[in-house]
Amino acid sequence: MTSSKMLPPGSTIGILGGGQLGRMLATAAAELGFRCHVYCPDGESPAFDVVAARTTAAYENQSALAAFAGSVDVVTYEFENVPADTAAFLGEQVDVLPNPHALAVSQDRLSEKELMQSLGIPVAPFAQVDDVASLEAALETLGRPSILKTRRFGYDGKGQVAIRAGEDASTAWEAIAGRPAVLEGFVTFAREVSALVVRGRNGETAVYDIVENVHRNHILATSTVPAQLSAATSDAAREIAARVASALDYVGLLAVEMFVVEENGAERLIVNEIAPRVHNSGHWTQDGCIVSQFENHIRAIAGWPLGSTERHSNAVMTNLIGAEADDWAALAAEPGARLHLYGKAESRPGRKMGHVNRISPKVG
Ligand code: AMP
Repeated sequence: MTSSKMLPPGSTIGILGGGQLGRMLATAAAELGFRCHVYCPDGESPAFDVVAARTTAAYENQSALAAFAGSVDVVTYEFENVPADTAAFLGEQVDVLPNPHALAVSQDRLSEKELMQSLGIPVAPFAQVDDVASLEAALETLGRPSILKTRRFGYDGKGQVAIRAGEDASTAWEAIAGRPAVLEGFVTFAREVSALVVRGRNGETAVYDIVENVHRNHILATSTVPAQLSAATSDAAREIAARVASALDYVGLLAVEMFVVEENGAERLIVNEIAPRVHNSGHWTQDGCIVSQFENHIRAIAGWPLGSTERHSNAVMTNLIGAEADDWAALAAEPGARLHLYGKAESRPGRKMGHVNRISPKVG
């Protein structure tokens, strides 16, 4: 069920998940006069510091979920591995947005790719892999190098392994613990970009400027706008994102990650994956756009008109990973830089501790 009413300020937004995305959603919601209630199994969650109400309970705890649903006016989530049953259970009591079907599709790399194919959107060549025999058959077709990825619970390079010339199928299969997977042909891309689309309850859609992403050790390092892309390719990327959002009857912010392949001087887009939530590659919008991805997600699920996605500045977002956040004092003093820290007590290698948006006058 999704009602078409506009939630008035003072309403309570329920957020499943308590990481930095939940924290930034909650502060954006507070700017519009909403209260937030975060539900997260981890009592040390960064979002807990900035919200009106918190529940620490497992996603399978039905009495805690029922109480949570009864205390909020709409439920959303800040990460995609919320169990589908949890979303469905809550959906019987309260609006859950984006809808649980969109969540289920993006939790499974195979259904994600099948959706893209059904919409005529290019993806890397792939094959379903359920055991060593099907992996061997897939390697015959797709060749080496290729990348074996678990269908579920993969993020920041976890749950995936490259299979190079001379490397064998069973070692790769063991490396992903024999979980249902897809094998993907290796894409020689010129760059990686993402399209951030927001879709309202009434189907209104807006897309942010396409952003160019650089990963280091499988973790996003920087996001830069404008991306180095032709106007036609940018338009095509926006159109793909809007098409996916409509097909899923999506409400909220959706990220679509793509590879840009250059061949004979022409650019081609290949969708890598989608994320049914606000996204790290959209953090630049906090300081580079009139209305950020976080506020627009809140507006969308609250049934409000979308805010302007117009970019007013050039921006480079740099993630602060592990000890990089120890430079906070120097970053705070840097002209043109806006520092965002997540309030995480413990710094660990590879852990996202904050980010900095470096803003300059709009060019391009
Ligand atoms: P993913 O977990 O699917 O987002 O993949 C993480 C990163 O691995 C991507 O951002 C790419 O840099 C790289 N990657 C993933 N799939 C492929 C592919 N099929 N070909 C080449 N590089 C890939």
